Amino acid sequence: MLADIDTWVLDLDNTLYPADSALAGQLTHGILSTIAEHYGTDLTGARRIQSDLVAEYGTSLRGAMVTGTIDPHEFLGFEQRIDYSTIGPDPVLAEVLRGLPGRRYVYTNGSAYHAEQVLGRLGLTECIDGVFDILAADLIPKPYDESLDAFLASFGIDPVRAAMFDDLEVNLTGPHERGMTTVWVAGGTPYEQLAARRWRAADLPGFLRANI
Ligand SMILES: [Mg+2]
Repeated sequence: MLADIDTWVLDLDNTLYPADSALAGQLTHGILSTIAEHYGTDLTGARRIQSDLVAEYGTSLRGAMVTGTIDPHEFLGFEQRIDYSTIGPDPVLAEVLRGLPGRRYVYTNGSAYHAEQVLGRLGLTECIDGVFDILAADLIPKPYDESLDAFLASFGIDPVRAAMFDDLEVNLTGPHERGMTTVWVAGGTPYEQLAARRWRAADLPGFLRANI
């Protein structure tokens, strides 16, 4: 199953820590307040603008960049105000990741700063060989092909020997087409196989332990 995998590609937010953590709420609030401030609207208006930006450009950040409404680096300023102490160490996940054969990368639509804070709090910094963030991707987010190509090229990854984990199913379509094994990290039963090389797992460490 996963025996021929030597590269492990991990999304960060809502994949390495639960989607219902207080951190997810802070991220949403940070993005909405930034939009509200720059468009001169309230949080309800910001929510509407954000969903338009995401629908058209993939992420609010890319929308901000393309429309020129907010400078991308200014946009990411909200990360400096996030209280990362709302998440704590995950020694079980750390042990499982450390035991994976080969290289382990984080591929995120967030910034390297954000990834560093989150990995540090989770106690996973030493388990990860590299981070590919939204700035490395020239602000082009998953699930765009340009982002995936840049990520694969940057670490010299052979897709057929790689497995990718992400809580957003849409981010796994391109990787699956390239021959990657994909694992959609989402709720329900601990894990199940959806098709050849396609899995869904609610319990990430449990899935890895059972299938390596
Ligand atoms: Mg995610």
